[in-house]
Amino acid sequence: MFESVSAAPPDAILGLTDAYKADPNPDKINLGVGVYQDASGKTPVLGTVREAASRLAKDLASKSYLPITGSAEYGEAVQKLMFGVEDEIVRSRRAVTAHTPGGTGALRVTADFLKQNFEDATVWLSQPTWANHPAVFAAAGVPTKIYSYFDKAANGLAFDKMIADLKKIPSGDVVLLHGCCHNPTGIDPTPEQWKQIAETLRSMGAMPLIDFAYQGFGEGIQEDAAGLQAFCRPGEELIVCSSFSKNFGLYRERVGAATFVTADQDSALRVGSQVKRAIRSNYSNPPSHGAELVVTILTDHKLRQQWDGEVAEMRDRINGMRKLLVEKLAEHGAPGDHSFIQQQRGMFSFSGLTPEQVERLKHDYAIYIVGSGRINVAGITPQNVDRLAHSITDVLK
Ligand code: PLP
Repeated sequence: MFESVSAAPPDAILGLTDAYKADPNPDKINLGVGVYQDASGKTPVLGTVREAASRLAKDLASKSYLPITGSAEYGEAVQKLMFGVEDEIVRSRRAVTAHTPGGTGALRVTADFLKQNFEDATVWLSQPTWANHPAVFAAAGVPTKIYSYFDKAANGLAFDKMIADLKKIPSGDVVLLHGCCHNPTGIDPTPEQWKQIAETLRSMGAMPLIDFAYQGFGEGIQEDAAGLQAFCRPGEELIVCSSFSKNFGLYRERVGAATFVTADQDSALRVGSQVKRAIRSNYSNPPSHGAELVVTILTDHKLRQQWDGEVAEMRDRINGMRKLLVEKLAEHGAPGDHSFIQQQRGMFSFSGLTPEQVERLKHDYAIYIVGSGRINVAGITPQNVDRLAHSITDVLK
């Protein structure tokens, strides 16, 4: 049977990493895959994660199965981090959180849940969005459509077009929004715009689905939840898919969560039972170690404070590199205004480079960027920024 299987196309971004690894140029630069790197180009294990791991190793309670939706402690910690410790959603128990393998797992569980309970719902995605979004929903058999998001000419948010598109969405459909640090553009709505987006979805009867993969990488851990909180009103529903891959540096541990905020506790119990059904036939129950690390850090006052500092350090480094790149581009005389790079938030920047320019950067300068022109700003270091700016200037001229 396997004779008849044709090869699937390689993953565009992971394929880029392979090409980077194979490049013998000692000055090569990888700005492709979305992984945080420190100033020395390493993806660090956070000090809080090391401390939590050593505590857990000393106190290995059990390796038996977790409940289908993970531990209740984890669910509570995740909700408090997103909504606030004293928030009505947390206190009223009208939300149900499932611990999932990564943010991708959260999206897939959500997609299966939608397919099984709302057959006719379409999920609306921003144009552009994370490349895996359409793939995850397609795999679950959930149809997707797009709404306007990026204004290429202004290198900003196409807000009016976005609202106009959202106003056409039928009641009962689902609108996926990036909670902060939009991937791939790095462009987020302002607090005022978030309010208007929430108002629009409310008036259309559409369900907000917030993909929250970069909490803390934009303005701050609390500040980055402001967009999501625009949808939090008593009795109102939303879904949040969280990932702790980036802000805890737990990429390979696969820690995420799918949170369904329902109107009341009774609905939460029923929705929770359907979420369990979706998980049971998928991976049955989640892997525990990464989530135990997250709970240990979030529930220990000292570790929690230390983690705030670690997230701030990652955020500040990225924003520092944005500023430095803009300065260096100006210094090298790069044509055009690149100040938009400094206004974008999170790990990514839509650089405006064309596919041809991206290809030249790879071929002539050993600089690896995704074809869309998306740059992983966290791949920039004080050591490589000058060569990067010089090379970009060359291909822009
Ligand atoms: N959502 C967005 C927007 C992302 O960028 C990513 C990861 O790159 C994810 C979800 C999934 O994260 P995870 O690695 O936790 O599955």
